[in-house]
Amino acid sequence: MRDVFEVRRYDGAGRLGELEVPRAGVTVETPALLPVVNPHVQTVPPRRLAEDFGAEILITNSYVLHGSGDLREPALEQGLHDLLDFPGAIMTDSGSFQLAEYGEIDVTTEEIVRFQHDIGSDIGTPVDIPTQPDADREQASREQSSTQERIERAAGMDVGDMLLTGPVQGGTHPEIRERAAREAADSGADVFPVGAVVPLLNDYRYGDVVEVVVAAKRGLPEAAPVHLFGAGHPMTFALAAAMGCDLFDSAAYALYARDDRYLTVRGTDRLDDLEYFPCACPACGEWTPAALRERPERERGEVLAEHNLHVSFAEIRRVKGAIREGNLLELVEARARGHPTLLDGYRALLEHPDTLEATDPVSKGTFFHLSTESARRPEVRRHHDRLARLEVGDEVVVGGPSGDDGDGGESERWLCRPPFGPLPPALKDAYPLTAEVPERLEPQAYEAAAEGVARLAETNPDTAVRLVHDGWPESALDVVPDDVTVERRDTGGDAPKEGNE
Ligand SMILES: [Zn+2]
Repeated sequence: MRDVFEVRRYDGAGRLGELEVPRAGVTVETPALLPVVNPHVQTVPPRRLAEDFGAEILITNSYVLHGSGDLREPALEQGLHDLLDFPGAIMTDSGSFQLAEYGEIDVTTEEIVRFQHDIGSDIGTPVDIPTQPDADREQASREQSSTQERIERAAGMDVGDMLLTGPVQGGTHPEIRERAAREAADSGADVFPVGAVVPLLNDYRYGDVVEVVVAAKRGLPEAAPVHLFGAGHPMTFALAAAMGCDLFDSAAYALYARDDRYLTVRGTDRLDDLEYFPCACPACGEWTPAALRERPERERGEVLAEHNLHVSFAEIRRVKGAIREGNLLELVEARARGHPTLLDGYRALLEHPDTLEATDPVSKGTFFHLSTESARRPEVRRHHDRLARLEVGDEVVVGGPSGDDGDGGESERWLCRPPFGPLPPALKDAYPLTAEVPERLEPQAYEAAAEGVARLAETNPDTAVRLVHDGWPESALDVVPDDVTVERRDTGGDAPKEGNE
């Protein structure tokens, strides 16, 4: 693995980074979207992808060029950058998509990697074997070994400055994905596409996508650039970035447009169903759905492709901004409301708190509690871990009135803020305990706070812990250990609001 990728900033497992592409002489800011360019059908010319949409990198299929009667020779003579007229970096795929579709292709890894080098590709790909989801373990393992052998053969070739991808296969078997990632990294590949997730994405199996990516990431060094291969719908970018993916490619912008489909960050609409374009891009400013429906198929496709690109690049910029601001998970929570299966994916990701927490910054802007999932964010878990390390006296009262009018006597008085739970007054202005939390909290937030109480009590067995709550649900009180004294604070019915303290 060459030293070409650098992470600039993390938010959870999401990261802003820079991928240096030496052969192109450019540095790509990540997360980055690679529009897929079909050399034969350029819905939007690559020059415009760079100049009007800000594409720094694109992907095209070297196998299509290799087999093309009219483009193969021009590609070899002029080179890809001239042929496509694109000033940024160009990644090439190898034909493994065709292998998955048709069962066989007529080139070897050596031939196609050499060809990619000879046409001037900046990032080349061996012929990996895309194991279909739900293939059994034996098949997935056998195909992964075969992919790995091809990566090693490609890595042994002299391809100069061209970077090499090491596709991570393994179907839906996490342990094979992890092994694939480790072996691909060990063999010297530079960029790591998590492959064969398109069937999962097409079936909205986001929970499985999360498991596959998290497993692949486990097998990779922290600073390895990860490409979620085939993830081109803008509704998925925030979740994919939150898993720690750095590159996405979109054929969707053109494929959907050709089928009169309009992408949004919440899903896909059909042109026929739209009365309004809910978007501020130039294409949507110029057209109404009714006017566009009147136009010939080709023109409709071009206008929709432009919109689809605008909405996709805008979402990438939004994701980058969210990582920078430290609120990527809040963006994921919003996007997860677009489709129940995306929510499933987000919940699956939250089941990997170690993945999310390992690189999460200790301090960010204000924590916004926006959903039942907020109580499971890494910041809550980290606060619970911190509780285990805090100095506590013989007696501590958690919650209750914050003044000295209580009956705590000599006890220490701590605050209690769902979803975090107990906190000493000295921490009350520290991130994330300054969270903005709705007054009408759901039980999960109290349950998380109760887990904090339990953590405090369990790690300080000699401390008498008393919890004074203002009407926690039974499901939360059930989490509080028996040796914690629990009392309900008498608010008298018309007491002024004091939040949850
Ligand atoms: Zn638009």
